[in-house]
Amino acid sequence: MHRRDLLLRSASTALAALPGTHARAADQAAAFAPPAALAPIRARPDRIIDVSVCTRPFRAQGPRIEAERRFGKTIVHNYGHGGSGWSLSWGAAMFALPLLLATRERHIAIVGCGAIGLTMARVAQRAGLRVHIYCKERPPEVRSSAATGMWSPESRLCTLEHATPAFAQQWEAMARSSFKAFQRLLGLPGDPIGWHDGYTLSDIPFDQPLPGNGHSNDEPEYPDLEARIRDLRPRSVVLAPHEHPFRVPHARRYTQMTFNLAAYSRLLLDEFMRDGGEIEQRDFVHLRQFAGLKERTIVNATGYGARALLGDHSIIPVRGQTARLVPQPEVSYGLIYRGHNVVVVPRRDGLLVQAQGERDFGNHNTEPDRGLSEAAVERLGRLFAA
Ligand SMILES: Cc1cc2nc3c(=O)[nH]c(=O)nc-3n(C[C@H](O)[C@H](O)[C@H](O)COP(=O)(O)OP(=O)(O)OC[C@H]3O[C@@H](n4cnc5c(N)ncnc54)[C@H](O)[C@@H]3O)c2cc1C
Repeated sequence: MHRRDLLLRSASTALAALPGTHARAADQAAAFAPPAALAPIRARPDRIIDVSVCTRPFRAQGPRIEAERRFGKTIVHNYGHGGSGWSLSWGAAMFALPLLLATRERHIAIVGCGAIGLTMARVAQRAGLRVHIYCKERPPEVRSSAATGMWSPESRLCTLEHATPAFAQQWEAMARSSFKAFQRLLGLPGDPIGWHDGYTLSDIPFDQPLPGNGHSNDEPEYPDLEARIRDLRPRSVVLAPHEHPFRVPHARRYTQMTFNLAAYSRLLLDEFMRDGGEIEQRDFVHLRQFAGLKERTIVNATGYGARALLGDHSIIPVRGQTARLVPQPEVSYGLIYRGHNVVVVPRRDGLLVQAQGERDFGNHNTEPDRGLSEAAVERLGRLFAA
């Protein structure tokens, strides 16, 4: 699967239902649902309140979750989750936990306080372990805090050739246990986890590929893992023109799980501290500095940082940039404007607008390119122009 496909897919893989299913669902929608009355998005560049960039820690072979003995200690690696780190965080931690428990140590260290380190810490605490986190940054400074915040467990996770049946099976188990964990976090104050509806809009029929569809860039082929967990996603619905307010010829409605990352990170941190966790600021320049830690079992959850720390060049940065517009609580729907490189996620800390750059794969530049986000907001604004 290529890059532009991926943008559409990762934002709404709920779109994957069969055409016949769409038609049936559309009949139901026509029978029972009135046309949606949607608050317009006030999409103007002067309403951008933040532009952030982070790099996805992509590995062709997928995340590294394994233990090794070094410096007389056990190091459990849990890094390299590409564009799926938040989505797979609980499942990845469930896979790493037996490696921790096998050491029989009751006090462990976790290096890293992003999506993976924090969730690993919570899973370890729930298993009765005492956890000390060491990290250079904590939320909201970590790269994880600059993510989009969507359930996208197959996004830039591995290359097609590495998606063996065994890998796919492990991925499915991780995705399913993560999904279950997130459903238990619904309905909490601040909506750390939520669901919303969204609309995929298109100038051409959905079964027609976009011109130059994704073949003009250097991203690898990604596997189509999504089919294995289709039952976890509400099906998307094709809408007739009178069933939506947008002036585009083709529209679908999807339903998407979202992470409100500010509230969710705060929740994880608060619960970690409440259960006796400790966090210490520390920047490790060499892996051998792990030898100086008092804990004998250490989780390495340094994400993209593992590339420098371990000299692990299997980690490839995939740059991603998002902008936030002034929050509009009345806008509770997402948008994907197919072929126009715009995705909107209705987060509580602002309407998140994502657009891809021309050369994101292998790009470690974390300097914001405001022009890219302004152009995306302009394109979005045209949908709501009088
Ligand atoms: C634009 C964009 C959008 C994304 N959207 C989504 C999404 O919608 N859904 C999804 O599931 N995923 C998404 N992702 C992917 C997700 O953000 C990553 O997979 C995830 O953040 C990786 O988390 P991590 O904890 O491994 O890394 P990080 O967040 O980078 O955390 C690493 C931690 O290790 C620490 N560290 C690193 N090196 C050192 C060192 N040498 N010494 C001490 N501490 C160190 C850091 O300070 C930090 O605390 C997105 C990524 C991008 C770029």
